[in-house]
Amino acid sequence: MANKYWWQCAHCGDRPAWLSVCNSRSIAAFIWDELAPSGWDQSLLRRRCKCRHRTLYITYRAQRGDPDRISIKHIAGIVLAEEYVPMLWETFRHISPKTQWIDFKYQRGRSPWGLTKRLVLEKAQFSRLLKAYNVATGVDLPKTSCRQK
Ligand SMILES: [Zn+2]
Repeated sequence: MANKYWWQCAHCGDRPAWLSVCNSRSIAAFIWDELAPSGWDQSLLRRRCKCRHRTLYITYRAQRGDPDRISIKHIAGIVLAEEYVPMLWETFRHISPKTQWIDFKYQRGRSPWGLTKRLVLEKAQFSRLLKAYNVATGVDLPKTSCRQK
């Protein structure tokens, strides 16, 4: 699990040391101690690289051995009872950066255990999660105006 996530610039490829970018030792700690308390401030996920581009993102591999990398553009979540934090991650793959992906994740407090598990939610919480994403990113994710005539 250690070092499964790293900061990497999508422009120049630089990989600065994790702790030179944020103050938390792991991604789960970063989410719990920095991102959630900030009100899911998305600028914390997009840092300025030494190449001057604001394209330094948390990055990981889809699976072991896969050469393609995935970077996290947005994370929004809701903090529920017992430190349960369901999240919606918006990611892109370096091989095709224009395609946006949505990934549902969870963690408990600072524990990264749930990040590789399936997210199961009450339907009402799912609506709250979508709303949290909309607020954090300014993007209305579900464009579901299926009005019937
Ligand atoms: Zn760079």
